[in-house]
Amino acid sequence: MKYTSVIGLEIHAELLTDSKVYCTCQNKFGGSENTRVCPVCAALPGTLPTLNIGAVELAVKAGLATDCTINNYSSFDRKNYFYPDLPKAYQITQFENPICSNGHITVANGKDIRINRIHIEEDAGKLIHDGNISMADFNRCGVPLIEIVTEPDFRTPDEVASFVEQIALRLKYSGVCDARMEQGSLRVDVNISIMPYGSNNFGTRAEIKNLNSIKAIVRTIEYEIKRQADILDNGGEVIQETRRFDDSKGITVPMRSKEEAQDYRYFPEPDIPPIFLSDEDITGIRASMPQMPQDRFLRYTKKYGLPADDASLLISSKEFSDFYDGAVKINPDYKQISNMMLGELNRNLNESDKTMNDISFSPADLAELVKMSTDGTVSKNAAKEILTVMFNDGGKPIDIAKENGFIMENDVSGLEEVIAKVMAENTENVESYRNGNEKVFGFLMGQVVRSVGKSANPKLIRELLTKKLK
Ligand code: ADP
Ligand code: ZN
Ligand code: MG
Repeated sequence: MKYTSVIGLEIHAELLTDSKVYCTCQNKFGGSENTRVCPVCAALPGTLPTLNIGAVELAVKAGLATDCTINNYSSFDRKNYFYPDLPKAYQITQFENPICSNGHITVANGKDIRINRIHIEEDAGKLIHDGNISMADFNRCGVPLIEIVTEPDFRTPDEVASFVEQIALRLKYSGVCDARMEQGSLRVDVNISIMPYGSNNFGTRAEIKNLNSIKAIVRTIEYEIKRQADILDNGGEVIQETRRFDDSKGITVPMRSKEEAQDYRYFPEPDIPPIFLSDEDITGIRASMPQMPQDRFLRYTKKYGLPADDASLLISSKEFSDFYDGAVKINPDYKQISNMMLGELNRNLNESDKTMNDISFSPADLAELVKMSTDGTVSKNAAKEILTVMFNDGGKPIDIAKENGFIMENDVSGLEEVIAKVMAENTENVESYRNGNEKVFGFLMGQVVRSVGKSANPKLIRELLTKKLK
């Protein structure tokens, strides 16, 4: 039978605050076990949590980055369950009144995916299993998280992949989360069900927890569609359960079924007061946000006339896009500056271990370099070589051009002398060209360029040589 799949996501993102969400322990990835733990996040009796305002601000930014409504009032609840990585035996989260609601993101195929809510919560610790022993590392206890919950609007793995890519990029641009899926700072739970093609009645869903790459998400969805379809095709019923993806086998395996699901006994958290945000608070945070990648994409394609592929590459990191914006502000040669960044600059970045943050020249230097190549001060090839020197050693483009003899020779009478000399030394070739063998032009051109050296202006030489050979 033919089926339609229905998918909804729950995404956990670790917030880039300096300290944890309910205590002052450092919020950082890695480190020796249990070195970033205090009485509050270790849940010693009698300790009290204090809400980190920085986490609230980042949660608001996440909401603004995804077109959510930011709620003036939100509050915290206790979600009770026992697990060895959760010393309090409850998680402080937002259940009844989340901080953000009703957002959306348009995915690559143009479809709008609705976001139901974004709420603030805390991460749990980690268990380390070694043979028969399990050990608890509480460093991650109390690390601030947001959970982003979508409506079940996805129908294909491609839509999901596009959504996760966009969420990750927007969270990075707004400084909310570094979105390093491989380190677990962005983790995706996939809810998936299938229904007969053409139906509108959603089927029973399975939830696959903690996927940490887009590839794993896509493989999980493809596997689950097949698994659930096989069950239905054989007259069986899909049961509601939590599963996990086994990366090495490429399959999902059961973790717990709905019958085993816990009753979390949510109730309002008595130790943390509600959050009141005024409209001015929200406007203030909005004003501190950089332009989002999707808006830059529109500016680059619609206003600057760049091809969509180029614009996508330029927005792939905020640092890269900021650098581009800095350069075109000074020299609005949108296409040439984009070409130089996507070509020569990217090549240099790929061949070194530098990132955009390590680059020792400024957007203004790039703007100047592109101007030098378009106004005929240096050739296109020389401009590329100059960029590599700037990338490796820094320096101003004009100084590098002078030091390396890249300033183009535009002195016509000087060039005519060289041409005359080359023609005198190659009379046979000149004769042959004049008898219709146009192929030798390249050879003669090469001779002239070689004698002039790095400062050769190929365009001007071509013009003059063509004239002389007539
Ligand atoms: P619960 O409260 O039982 O956890 P939610 O309504 O919060 O359920 O949904 C959790 C996630 O599951 C959301 O991402 C939602 O989009 C998704 N979801 C809900 N129903 C379905 C379904 N029938 N098929 C696939 N995903 C679903
Ligand atoms: Zn602590
Ligand atoms: Mg839920």
